[in-house]
Amino acid sequence: MQYTINKQLLNQFTNTHNSDSDIKAFRTYTKTCQDFNILPHYQIIESSTPFYNLSKQYDILIATTREELHNAIAYKKNQYYMFLHKKRDSEISKSCHIIESNNEALSLLNKAQQPSPTIGFTPTMGALHNGHKSLITANVAQNHISIVSIFVNPTQFAPTEDLDKYPRTIEKDIELCGNNDVDILFIPTNETIYQENDEITLNPPKKMGYILEGYYRPTHFAGVLQVVLKLFNLIMPTHAYFGQKDAQQLLIIQKMVQHLCLPIKIIGMPIVRDSDNLALSSRNVYLNTQERKKALAIPTTIFHLQTRIVNDGMRNRKILKQEAKEILKDLEIDYMDFYTYDLQFAKEARECIFLLAIRMGAIRLLDNLWIQ
Ligand code: AMP
Repeated sequence: MQYTINKQLLNQFTNTHNSDSDIKAFRTYTKTCQDFNILPHYQIIESSTPFYNLSKQYDILIATTREELHNAIAYKKNQYYMFLHKKRDSEISKSCHIIESNNEALSLLNKAQQPSPTIGFTPTMGALHNGHKSLITANVAQNHISIVSIFVNPTQFAPTEDLDKYPRTIEKDIELCGNNDVDILFIPTNETIYQENDEITLNPPKKMGYILEGYYRPTHFAGVLQVVLKLFNLIMPTHAYFGQKDAQQLLIIQKMVQHLCLPIKIIGMPIVRDSDNLALSSRNVYLNTQERKKALAIPTTIFHLQTRIVNDGMRNRKILKQEAKEILKDLEIDYMDFYTYDLQFAKEARECIFLLAIRMGAIRLLDNLWIQ
């Protein structure tokens, strides 16, 4: 797919991410393309724009407000139904003459019905890397309509954390989504997600939400659940994709979906690693060369444990922990242990997750191993 971006206009956007000027920059871009008769490669769905007026030629629809998002989804659904109609008409006209059994009539009836499109959703905070890309690729491949969101959610950051400094690479992010056939990119402003007095919030489960990451970041999972539920309600996906990299987050979101009876299938995707095996993370850019080198003891530990468990059949939790400690001896460990899928201590290294967090300079590095 050809994909070009008007750098000058997007620079304007990049420097002012998450404010009303984002929308302005996008609109200027679209308008300039119209003025110069250039085909834009992405398009804001204006609230007032009826979806049937939009052309198919755009690669990716970008929405920043609720209305724009809903118009974009309606537009994509309409495209899907139009496609289905054409397909169904051709199938029906082909088989009309040769119905010979009840079964055939039944299968024709099934074809004539309009199944709803599946809507896949990948929430992210941007600064997209290959880890995000694996979630996006699965989403695009497995659903009729794919949606990615980029939103650096303030409620999941404590006041002492890196909200303002969180890496933002919006221009590259749009390109990655465009090149990977994402249908809709939702880049809400704070005002799109949060009202002035957002009083109704969610608490994570007591036993799962305040240990491990929750111990070091006590308000974190409440903020995550708040934004994820809001995004689920805005997008109404049928499938949502999360990384096993953030294992505790994935398990807590699965609990929320289960406890609140949300009709969404949560799909956990394996950890993607860099060429040196460090798990990819948007925050890795904070590491200097020396720290990065030191941090490689983390994937070494993970691969060591995997080998010991799979090849040697070693399931003794204490022995494995001792070996891990030895490899990590020069690092500051926040936590390291084997946990069940309900985040209780696992008695042995079987059907559980090994969870590890290391403190390094300004950041904490997470890694884990899912054990059969
Ligand atoms: P973030 O942008 O950090 O909020 O992450 C968005 C999603 O990408 C979350 O579901 C993460 O678990 C997932 N993710 C982040 N890094 C990786 C990785 N290295 N491999 C797989 N998934 C990841």
